[in-house]
Amino acid sequence: MLKVNQNYLKLPGSYLFSDIAKKVKKYREEHQGQEVISLGIGDVTRPLTPTIIKALHDAVDDMSDIERFHGYGPDLGYAFLREKIAEFDFKRRGCDISAEEIFVSDGAKSDSGNIQEIFSDKCTIAVSDPVYPVYVDSNVMAGRTGTYDAPSSRWSDVVYMPCTKDNDFVPDLPSKTPDIIYICSPNNPTGKALTKAQLQSFVDYALKNRAVILFDAAYEAYIIEDDVPHSIYECEGAKDCAIEMRSFSKNAGFTGVRLGYTVVPKNLVDTEGKSLYSLWARRHGTKFNGASYIQQRAGEAVYTEAGQNEIAGLVSYYMENAGTIRDGLTSAGFTVYGGVNAPYIWVKTPETMTSWQFFDYLLNNAQVVGTPGSGFGPSGEGYFRLTAFGSHKNTRNAVERIVSLA
Ligand code: PLP
Repeated sequence: MLKVNQNYLKLPGSYLFSDIAKKVKKYREEHQGQEVISLGIGDVTRPLTPTIIKALHDAVDDMSDIERFHGYGPDLGYAFLREKIAEFDFKRRGCDISAEEIFVSDGAKSDSGNIQEIFSDKCTIAVSDPVYPVYVDSNVMAGRTGTYDAPSSRWSDVVYMPCTKDNDFVPDLPSKTPDIIYICSPNNPTGKALTKAQLQSFVDYALKNRAVILFDAAYEAYIIEDDVPHSIYECEGAKDCAIEMRSFSKNAGFTGVRLGYTVVPKNLVDTEGKSLYSLWARRHGTKFNGASYIQQRAGEAVYTEAGQNEIAGLVSYYMENAGTIRDGLTSAGFTVYGGVNAPYIWVKTPETMTSWQFFDYLLNNAQVVGTPGSGFGPSGEGYFRLTAFGSHKNTRNAVERIVSLA
């Protein structure tokens, strides 16, 4: 009997950003001529930088030449890229990660959604709340989350680690011991980045409880504070309990190019001593034929001196927007968080409005689109996410419009 995967049917509604897109489309159709500014989804807007573009062109040219043509690449990625990643992202920060432990992919969304496959369906997960929705949804699809309670927006078998203004958006250690702990720092959506001491307490907890941490560092490039680690492997013992995922999307603007990687240390094992590295390698080899040669050459160019300078320019461009949003909204009386080590500003909604009500209010009265905090988890209710990924002009206009409502 043909039957769909019943777990998919448990997912409430559509993906958050599809819901937003539908609402905005309807508004645009009904209010033609009104300019809507989106500070909603976390997509970049600046073009790729010259060094990356040149690497892409050169790689395309390679593909036209019989001597330099590349077909399927090595399973886990080209050595020219993996070696640069190991050197720049880890060794230079004092982390003992080798090129062999790096799995090149087409981005952190696929990796953070797929990584759960290598764990038993009996494993329990803990997530900081609110958080990037992919972690929970991919576990729903795999049948690990129990039943959904719509009034509380909670899954019965997920351990939530609330991040609210009361704990300064730093998750407390899980209330029940999970097997898998998802941490995203700097965090999407709150913009909060954990200090080394805070992250170390999670590492110590995971080691003590034989749990694994899935650490998403997609926003690492935005960190400016010295006590915030760029990699979980800066914490002592993390190689024995953590997997790290990274992306080229937010630092180098590869959202349309697609490139990312995951680090799985070779010595990482489950409670029976089974290697996570071998399973992820097996999964990669079976289900993925690699990011293209062209993408990986572009990734390599990120690590050149010119590439590093250019991407620092992109990050500072966006962080100028973060300042504009923070300052503007604060002056208008809003309480805002984030926007210091991350391109996200987490705004407290007015007392009388839920996240979605504030979404509608801004769309209808200021023609500004943001993201309702409740879409990122139950503790996101009463908050609203604005992103710094717009142009300076759009960001200034959006902020002026919001301020003028106050
Ligand atoms: N991880 C987090 C926390 C994100 O916010 C995003 C995108 O918004 C991603 C991963 C996706 O990254 P990629 O473009 O590499 O798939």
